[in-house]
Amino acid sequence: MKLSVVTLFPEMFSALTDWGISGRAVKQGLVVLNYYNPREYAKDKHRSVDDKPFGGGPGMLMKTEPLIAAIQAAKHGLKGGEGSSRVVYLSPQGRPIQHDDIVDLATRQSMVLVCGRYQGIDNRVIESEIDEEVSIGDFVLSGGELAAMALIDAMIRFQPGVLGDEDSVQQDSFTNGLLHCPEYTRPQEYNGREVPQVLLSGDHAAIETWRVKESLGATWIKRPDLIEKNKLDREQLELLEQFINEYQAHY
Ligand code: SAM
Repeated sequence: MKLSVVTLFPEMFSALTDWGISGRAVKQGLVVLNYYNPREYAKDKHRSVDDKPFGGGPGMLMKTEPLIAAIQAAKHGLKGGEGSSRVVYLSPQGRPIQHDDIVDLATRQSMVLVCGRYQGIDNRVIESEIDEEVSIGDFVLSGGELAAMALIDAMIRFQPGVLGDEDSVQQDSFTNGLLHCPEYTRPQEYNGREVPQVLLSGDHAAIETWRVKESLGATWIKRPDLIEKNKLDREQLELLEQFINEYQAHY
């Protein structure tokens, strides 16, 4: 996957490219990141990248010409073999991104990600250069870089060869529409709290059934909206009913 990021702060992306799973994927060339800094496309002697909004008001906007030049260079840089690359603007006004969107975006071979700064970007740039606006949640960040990194990190997890079996995305929350079940590691007893006995039993079928039940239970407690959205089969409904009965007897 080739990603071109339009950003005033490319150095921030070292948080993604130097560490952990994402860092390894970049080092192995499974994901290629290129940066296009509008400052390098600014023509005036101060290399300005911000400008005042028409109509007045607080704050600045990203200066239009260098931003457009950087977006076009990013698109051009992806040409050749990758087909047409979508230009995605990280924006609090965008479609709130969900698991299914990540799965879909992760299948694309290339993409341009535009990170806003200041009070955002000129609306005509959105109309003329941007194919889609995506948000990482209903809150406002001071720049699109952290949002782009969150998106890239999530997409990297779906690239073939990035994750080993033991941290496969298949086990993660949302993959089957539910939250992942609770997990435990050593010590076996912590502050008087024991690891559930079934996990020590060695009975793989019983462990699997327990995990499905606890995954349903965790979802029912923390994200009941997902239970309503999912069409649970009969076995899942029975396990959830068992979980609810046990839970209500206990609390
Ligand atoms: N004035 C804008 C508004 O109210 O819609 C907010 C601008 S924000 C301070 C600066 C930049 O941060 C935006 O252009 C966008 O790129 C990024 N940003 C802020 N919140 C975001 C979010 N929830 N998701 C994705 N990007 C975000």
